[in-house]
Amino acid sequence: MSRKFFVGGNWKLNGDKKSLGELMDTMNAAKVDPNVEVVCGAPSIYLDFVRSKLDAKFGVAAQNCYKVAKGAFTGEISPVMIKDCGVNWVILGHSRDATSSERLIGQKTAHALESGLSVIACIGEKLDEREGGITEKVVFAQTKVIADNVKDWSKVVLAYEPVWAIGTGKTASPQQAQEVHDKLRGWLKANVSEAVASSVRIIYGGSVTGATCKELASQKDVDGFLVGGASLKPEIIEIINAKL
Ligand code: PGA
Repeated sequence: MSRKFFVGGNWKLNGDKKSLGELMDTMNAAKVDPNVEVVCGAPSIYLDFVRSKLDAKFGVAAQNCYKVAKGAFTGEISPVMIKDCGVNWVILGHSRDATSSERLIGQKTAHALESGLSVIACIGEKLDEREGGITEKVVFAQTKVIADNVKDWSKVVLAYEPVWAIGTGKTASPQQAQEVHDKLRGWLKANVSEAVASSVRIIYGGSVTGATCKELASQKDVDGFLVGGASLKPEIIEIINAKL
């Protein structure tokens, strides 16, 4: 089954209206592969600004959200507010969302999906877990938390982001990424369904650059990327066009 290639940008806590405006000018003017779905994860305070400036062919994501629609939760944002800004995506569990338990990540996933957002759900092992040989165990357990909270998998992109590769300049090798993606698809087949296993997009994140994207993109089970540092540079165009 063909899965549309997906490139998410995660701008994290970076940029201002001037620099993000310039980045969006570059993206809007660029020639990009029409067969790729692109979604930019903007700081929440700029969601309105980014949605109004970024070409409609690109999606926008919030970088987190809370598990309920409203209430006395200072500093949080809800899926309702995200949608009110014309934004349809949210990134959840990034680097396992330092302030959230696994249970809370699951609750956020359920609530975001019920509220009509699509979710980029992040999973990934830490360095000591990889070195301890428990990568599979860790990512399967994280995927289970997500799976327990998903009814409609067409609204979910699974992002495999080994924590040791995020922002470190240490990209997983194409073989390492392919191996985990293949195992994740196997887990989905055994625990969700064959149809979901073959249709859900599993993207890789962790120090993806213009130089590393092509070989990673050529792996059978790598359906795109979640890009941090390089998504703030014109280099993101090269990554979007990795399959060309
Ligand atoms: P990086 O970040 O590309 O800067 O490693 C990836 C991510 O955190 O999504």
